[in-house]
Amino acid sequence: RLYGTDADLKHLTLEQLRPIALSYLKHQRIPHVLGTEQEAIRLAERYGADVRKARVAALLHDCTKRLEMDEQLALCRHYGIELDELERHALKLLHAKTGAAIARDVFGVDDEIYTAIYWHTTGHAGMTKLEKIMYLADYIEPNRDFPGLDKLRRACYDSLDAGLELGLSMTVEEMKERGNPVHSATLDALNDLKGKREA
Ligand code: FE
Ligand code: FE
Repeated sequence: RLYGTDADLKHLTLEQLRPIALSYLKHQRIPHVLGTEQEAIRLAERYGADVRKARVAALLHDCTKRLEMDEQLALCRHYGIELDELERHALKLLHAKTGAAIARDVFGVDDEIYTAIYWHTTGHAGMTKLEKIMYLADYIEPNRDFPGLDKLRRACYDSLDAGLELGLSMTVEEMKERGNPVHSATLDALNDLKGKREA
């Protein structure tokens, strides 16, 4: 098996899942994932989402982040994950898809949690509440520090969609500044929100 063990990891309590999920990480990433769990709790409570699902998604969202490109691609082949041209070369984008696949296969997460992990890096048009919470919890968790973060945090607790729109547009700006290509799903997500706001 590529990942995981023979033990039944599909029916764990949060307290059992947490140390196992953390064991998948490079130690430098542990504070980020714990911070994402805390932020996911706050956002889920604020917006009436399932707090337990938000916590499971947060704990597992970066579970394949430490893997190198060849390992990511092997998981994509194993799980039948189709990749576009950009994704074939962008290591950062793959961990969301492979992480979702591991979360489902090894830890038995449901579709809601699966898609929240799957879309946590790019977003997409028509996001569910849990997907929005996961995207933003990852973005604004307490260990983050970047220009505009306070404004983004305020927006997130003002309105989930306002926070999401600001977060997505900040991502697009940052990618452009760095000369990196923006994934089409991110642009779709942003246009979808703008369209709904102007409708
Ligand atoms: Fe991530
Ligand atoms: Fe993350």
